[in-house]
Amino acid sequence: MKVSIMGRAIEKQLLSITTINIRDFAANRHGKVDDYPYGGGAGMVMQPEPIYQSYLHALKLIREKRGLAADEELTNIRTIYLTPQGRVFKQKMAKEFAKEEDIILLCGHYEGVDERVLELIVTDHISIGDYVLTGGELPAMVVMDSISRLVPGVLNNDDSAETESFSDNTLEYPQYTRPVIFMERTVPEVLLSGHHKNIEHWRKEASLKRTLERRPDLLSGKSY
Ligand code: SAM
Repeated sequence: MKVSIMGRAIEKQLLSITTINIRDFAANRHGKVDDYPYGGGAGMVMQPEPIYQSYLHALKLIREKRGLAADEELTNIRTIYLTPQGRVFKQKMAKEFAKEEDIILLCGHYEGVDERVLELIVTDHISIGDYVLTGGELPAMVVMDSISRLVPGVLNNDDSAETESFSDNTLEYPQYTRPVIFMERTVPEVLLSGHHKNIEHWRKEASLKRTLERRPDLLSGKSY
């Protein structure tokens, strides 16, 4: 998160990211935060208490950032648990989350997290796709990246988030840059014409054609 577009956004203070190590809130000296599952079965489960304490710490940091008193109530902080059992993450959700002032992302590990703490603190269960990873850190970074680039000022050209894939249930049109001819393949002539109306028409058509070929489900609205 410290390099490229995200790194520059953090440097410009357009957004900030704080990581909290759940192990720091372990009740033992070894930083152990997992235990065997009740009822038996494979793997380990993350215990509720260290996660709850980490959550309270996150709220404390948000209060400090907002200049609120320690006893001031803080409600409606979006708390997202990254889990393969969640709603599959979509651009539409990224847009929704980008409106939030603060977001807490909870990353699980091992077999997952004790259900009781999830019931207490989680507002959204989000999956990044129908496959299982070893931990929630990569999904959290995927979510952070897609939300961050929608924060005004993060992209040099705010327009690009408007026309790109998924913004209106279609995939973006194909892109070309110099040279005009590469390996005997020429850039579509209309893009060299400077005729804005024709270019717009070509792009709209190319975008629809591409969506129909690759993601017809988007056009039928089924994936939303
Ligand atoms: N036992 C869980 C199940 O079957 O649903 C899977 C646990 S997974 C091995 C460990 C952690 O990785 C999860 O708690 C979650 O935080 C994260 N994770 C794995 N796959 C994910 C996905 N597709 N999307 C979001 N988070 C995921």
